[in-house]
Amino acid sequence: MQEWKGVRCIKTNNEKGCALCDATWGEYYRDIEGERTFFCCNICADIFESMVNNVKKRTGWGFIDYINLEGNYNRGRECEARSGDKIYRYYFRTYGDGRMMKFEDR
Ligand SMILES: [Zn+2]
Repeated sequence: MQEWKGVRCIKTNNEKGCALCDATWGEYYRDIEGERTFFCCNICADIFESMVNNVKKRTGWGFIDYINLEGNYNRGRECEARSGDKIYRYYFRTYGDGRMMKFEDR
C-alpha cells in the first residue's frame, strides 16, 4: 500500500522533461520519495535517485522540496537543494552507467 499522505514531491528546475536533464524524449517513470517522477531513461532515474539519497544522508533532511541543477553529464552538475528554508549546495558527476563518480559539498 502506498502512503500518499504527507508525501512531498521534489520539484526541479527541469520543468519540461526529465527531472535530471530536461530531455523530453523517452518515457520512463520511477517513484522518487513516493512520487511518480518522469525521466527520459532509467540511467537518469538511477542518477537522480542516488543523488537524492546522497543529499538526504549528508543533510539529515527528511524531505527535499526543490533541486536546482546546472550543468551536464560531461561537466558534472552544480546543484542547490532546498528543504523548507534550508539550503544545501553540492556538486556531483557520474559515470556513463549512472554510478556516482564524485559528490562533494559546495
Ligand atoms: Zn534525462
